[in-house]
Amino acid sequence: KKITIAIDGFSSTGKSTLAKQLAKHLGYVYVDTGAMYRAITLFAMQNGYITADYFDKETLINSLPSIRLHFEFNPELGFAEMFLNGVNVETEIRTIEVSNFVSKVAEVSEVRAKLVEQQQSMGKDKGVVMDGRDIGTVVFPKAELKVFMTASPQTRAQRRFDELQAKGQKVSFEEVLKNVEERDYIDTHRDDSPLRKAEDALELDNSHLTREEQFAAVLEMVEK
Ligand code: C5P
Repeated sequence: KKITIAIDGFSSTGKSTLAKQLAKHLGYVYVDTGAMYRAITLFAMQNGYITADYFDKETLINSLPSIRLHFEFNPELGFAEMFLNGVNVETEIRTIEVSNFVSKVAEVSEVRAKLVEQQQSMGKDKGVVMDGRDIGTVVFPKAELKVFMTASPQTRAQRRFDELQAKGQKVSFEEVLKNVEERDYIDTHRDDSPLRKAEDALELDNSHLTREEQFAAVLEMVEK
C-alpha cells in the first residue's frame, strides 16, 4: 500500500538527498517544495518586484494567477526539474541570489496558499515523498511517515558551500553561513506557518550520519 512521506527541516540538512533516495527505492514521486518557492522568487526577481532594498508584494500577489509551475522528470538526472511558465529554471533557482530572497517571498501568505494547494493536489494519489518546511504540519498533516531533519548551521553551510563551489559559483563560506542563519531566522519566526517539528515526526540529526545510515534508518520506518 502506497503512503505519503513528509520530510521537513532546515535548509541543507540533506532532505532532498534522502527524499530522492526514498522515492527511487520505492518507485514514488519526489516533490521538492523548496524549488517551487525558489521559482516564484525567481519570477519576482526577473520582473523587478524584489531587489536588495525593495519588495513589491502587492504586484507579486496580483501576478500569482499567471505563474504556472510544473515538474518534469529528467531520466538522466533521476529527478524532476522545475519549470516556470514552461521554461526549465532548475539551474537558475539554485543561485545564492535566489537563496537570499526566497524566505521573504515564502513569508507571503498568498504565495503559501497557492503552493500548498498545488502540493496537495500533486500528492493526492499517495506514493509521494515531499520535502520542505511545512509538509508534515500543513500540507499533509495526515502523512503516514514524517521525518524532521536537523544538523548544525556549520555543517549545513559547509554542504551548501561545497555544492555552490562544485557548480562554479563564487561565494565565500561566510556569505553562505550568513544566508543559512538568516533563512533559519525568517523561516522559524513566521507566525502563520513556522518551521516546527510535527508531534508525530521522527527527528533525525544527520550531522554525524552518513547517507547510507540515514537512508537505512528511514527505510526501516517505512517498512514498519
Ligand atoms: O529547501 P530549500 O532550501 O530549497 O527552500 C528554500 C526556501 O523556501 C526556504 O528557506 C523557505 O524559506 C522556503 N520554503 C518554505 N516552505 C517549504 C519549502 C521551502 O517556506 N515547504
